[in-house]
Amino acid sequence: METIKPIQFKGVDNKRPIIIAGPCSAETEEQVMSTATDLAKAGIKIFRAGIWKPRTKPGGFEGIGEEGLVWLERVQKETGMLVATEVATRQHVEAALKHGVDVLWIGARTSANPFAMQEIADTLKGVDVPVLVKNPVNPDLELWIGAMQRLHNAGITRIGAIHRGFSAYGKHLYRNMPQWHIPIELRRRLPNMTIFCDPSHIGGKRELVAPLSQQAMDLGFDGLIIESHCDPDCAWSDKSQQVNPEVLNFILNTLVVRDTTQTTESLTLLRQQIDQIDGEIIEALAKRMRVSREIGQYKKEHSMPVLQTGRYDDVLNTRARNAEEMGMSGDFMKTVYQAIHEESVRQQIEVLNNRL
Ligand code: PEP
Ligand code: MN
Repeated sequence: METIKPIQFKGVDNKRPIIIAGPCSAETEEQVMSTATDLAKAGIKIFRAGIWKPRTKPGGFEGIGEEGLVWLERVQKETGMLVATEVATRQHVEAALKHGVDVLWIGARTSANPFAMQEIADTLKGVDVPVLVKNPVNPDLELWIGAMQRLHNAGITRIGAIHRGFSAYGKHLYRNMPQWHIPIELRRRLPNMTIFCDPSHIGGKRELVAPLSQQAMDLGFDGLIIESHCDPDCAWSDKSQQVNPEVLNFILNTLVVRDTTQTTESLTLLRQQIDQIDGEIIEALAKRMRVSREIGQYKKEHSMPVLQTGRYDDVLNTRARNAEEMGMSGDFMKTVYQAIHEESVRQQIEVLNNRL
């Protein structure tokens, strides 16, 4: 794996960012051709479209299937773009190769499944095609690298990665949590691998495509894979995150791409990590306050006092001890917990007075 080199896509300039764009799903021949024509005019060189769609629940649009591959051949012929699609089984790989698909990608649900990855790797033995592996849905870097290793062991040399975020339970700003430190660690482990960011699936919303793309550029990603549809509001899948080719063109034109050799090791990168961690701390504190308010409700219903000093001492002492075990000062942690406790008590009193 250490020998993996940057992917050179046929006829595509390797200047950052390498762009892959196209609809979440191929729906109709007209939708594919109309989107592809506009994207080609905007200078896009690699067209994406899902032919088989992994859906969370049955009953949604599960992809047009093999007939869509004929439309992708038309895209190649009429626009000169390379075409890319997602494969998840032996049959998908065989069909995609038969129809001359230029780039394959592995979806997040598939890269999380070693049996499926092995089946795909076995089918690809002796084939020279670039394969992009999305991160698994769960935040597990080893599983992600393992999926790529299976392809590498099967003789695939043009392997790249796509960071599409990680799923989390509950409602969040992002559809999939970026957890930027994971692709950053992938970059450290495999410094020459071509790494794409998929802002569409991370954000889940049109408005987040531009800021996430900029963040990916600041973090030194090589490329972006962005969902673009000729009529996003009418898309059969992922409509809220798709942008039309004109908007895509605008987003790409406003991106600021700085020299990576300066930024990858720089302060920007470290600060991005701090921002990410602070976001996680604030989310955890909000969760803690929610539980606190529930405790407040319980105490109210059982006519118990808000403040119970024995419990408070316990919290302070155990947290200080834990902090010391992790190389921080116990006094520092006590100060932090005094502040947290103060806010907790304030919120419980609000509950008591029916204000929350
Ligand atoms: C997709 O790219 O349309 C897709 C299904 O993505 P993911 O595997 O990241 O969910
Ligand atoms: Mn999609």
